[in-house]
Amino acid sequence: MGGRDVAAKTVDALERLTVAYRAFSQQMAGAQGLSPLQLQLLTVLAAGPPPAANVDALHRELQVTQPTVSDAVTALIGKGLVTRRRDPSDRRRFALSLTPAGRETADSIAAQRGELVSIVETLPEGERETVLNSLLLLIAHLHREGVITVARTCLTCRFHEMHDNGHHCTLLNTRLGTADLRVNCPEHLSA
Ligand code: SF4
Repeated sequence: MGGRDVAAKTVDALERLTVAYRAFSQQMAGAQGLSPLQLQLLTVLAAGPPPAANVDALHRELQVTQPTVSDAVTALIGKGLVTRRRDPSDRRRFALSLTPAGRETADSIAAQRGELVSIVETLPEGERETVLNSLLLLIAHLHREGVITVARTCLTCRFHEMHDNGHHCTLLNTRLGTADLRVNCPEHLSA
């Protein structure tokens, strides 16, 4: 019963965070003359790959439909922030990339996002690590249940092992402290 309460309160807390992040994201997007999805696309394109810079990979990454991503990409191209060219490695696909203006906008978004990072940084270091660990654990569970479709984190990776209660990456052959755990690892392979 108590455990169920904690689970329900955890979902309530996630909802609060989602509402707050959505509001923050809308504010950032509005300041740049973008929709929240256009802002997400610029952020993902600036950080990646992964994911691959094409509509198919991006719609899976952001868990929205392909036509929705296509429309947002068309709008970004119209705004001069993204270009689209045929992918030389797969002629059926178009590869997307940021224009210099798109890169500048993505940098400005990253700077605004830094405000949130600064707030999280005010938590004591131990608590920050506890939060990160718990979130990665939750992401792994939600991924296993199919709620989160894409997760390139250590706890969902086939190279991740626990040794003596510590995290270990068998690919990099190194022990990982909590602060070393990755949220978007380019070497990740699904477990
Ligand atoms: S390959 Fe990357 S995601 Fe996988 S365990 Fe190693 S560091 Fe973590």
